[in-house]
Amino acid sequence: MKPTADVVVVGGGCMGASVAYHLSRRGVTDVVLVEREKMLGTGSTGRNAGGVRHQFSNEANIRLSIESIRLLEHFADEVGHLIDFHQDGYLFLLSLPNSVETFRRNVELQRRLGVDVEWLDENGAQRLAPGLDTTGVAAATFCSRDGIADPNGVTMGFAKAAQSAGVAVERGVEVTGILVSDGRVAGVETSRGAIETRTVVNAAGPWAGTVGKMVGAGVDVPVRPVRRHIFIAAMDATVQPAPVVPSSHIMVIDFESTFYFHREGAGILFGMGDPGETSTFDTTVQWDFLPQVIDVAVNRLPALASASISHAWAGLYEMTPDGNPIIGRTGPEGCYTIAGFSGHGFQHSPAAGRILADVIVGHDPQFDLTPFSLERFVVSSASSGERYVI
Ligand SMILES: Cc1cc2nc3c(=O)[nH]c(=O)nc-3n(C[C@H](O)[C@H](O)[C@H](O)COP(=O)(O)OP(=O)(O)OC[C@H]3O[C@@H](n4cnc5c(N)ncnc54)[C@H](O)[C@@H]3O)c2cc1C
Repeated sequence: MKPTADVVVVGGGCMGASVAYHLSRRGVTDVVLVEREKMLGTGSTGRNAGGVRHQFSNEANIRLSIESIRLLEHFADEVGHLIDFHQDGYLFLLSLPNSVETFRRNVELQRRLGVDVEWLDENGAQRLAPGLDTTGVAAATFCSRDGIADPNGVTMGFAKAAQSAGVAVERGVEVTGILVSDGRVAGVETSRGAIETRTVVNAAGPWAGTVGKMVGAGVDVPVRPVRRHIFIAAMDATVQPAPVVPSSHIMVIDFESTFYFHREGAGILFGMGDPGETSTFDTTVQWDFLPQVIDVAVNRLPALASASISHAWAGLYEMTPDGNPIIGRTGPEGCYTIAGFSGHGFQHSPAAGRILADVIVGHDPQFDLTPFSLERFVVSSASSGERYVI
């Protein structure tokens, strides 16, 4: 392994790969991307649902989506890798008056930023997603340029393009320490020896808090892991009449319950948040959660009642206290973080990586990073003068 590098990126998920790619496009190729697993993209990136949407509630996230989706649309030409991007749209189902009111504000903001989002009634929703039961649905929103893409394709595309430009990708190597000298990064320690560097990027996803602590000096990166499940349903071809499911890859989200689904091959991929889940790094599938999901699922997509579960897995959301990421300098000079995307990082990796690469090389990222700064979580205690992270 190289003993020195201009930049060391910790974590080979979609974020680390995107930062490495965008650094290489800015001429910074003396970079080592360090991943502790044997393959890239086996953390949250390898466990996600592939959803990509413009429909966010704050300007900063919508801007990340606009830029990211633009790159995903041209990924094969620009990065040189296929990513199986289906822009069949995201359909949000809203049942409560409060949710409709919130979405009115969101859609107004999305449209102001140039995103084309439609309002639909029950019939419109059913036309887009045949087989959907819209009982109790008051309104729905739809953006046709939203969709699903292949997280592995995006990660490998970024990593391979970076590698071709000279970036070193080290798999099966764990970063165990970050060396700081005179208030700035001096190197990293790994399971295969030290690398001298003046710049380190914490792209460790759900483990960003652990890597953040390696800097010492009271730096706290408030990212906590929360387990989320995905189930794959196989449709039974012998059931007659054949259960109706959407033939497109449209992503449907029942906003009130958080149940969501999309077509996955011949079957259906679905999931739902578990409000009782506490913070954990454990990704064992909790099968006793499945009946809770099924109860909700069959009400929205009755075809699931005759399906069988062929596969399930659990991964980790990387939650921050406000559900938004941390992008930028964190702690001593030369130390940066790109983490805490709180369950929507895959889709934002193209823009987030570009922005952080610009910050690192000293270019104006043309993006206001204030909503994503670590500082928003730092409070000073008037009595003791201490600073701590909420
Ligand atoms: C069930 C589920 C569904 C999701 N659905 C979506 C979705 O539809 N759309 C969307 O946009 N997002 C979704 N997400 C969120 C998305 O997967 C994450 O936001 C994104 O993958 C984060 O990428 P990352 O590169 O930051 O983290 P990761 O992919 O976790 O990568 C971090 C890497 O760092 C490595 N690492 C950690 N510590 C060290 C160390 N000390 N040394 C070396 N390497 C280290 C890990 O092994 C890991 O590979 C979902 C997540 C889950 C769990």
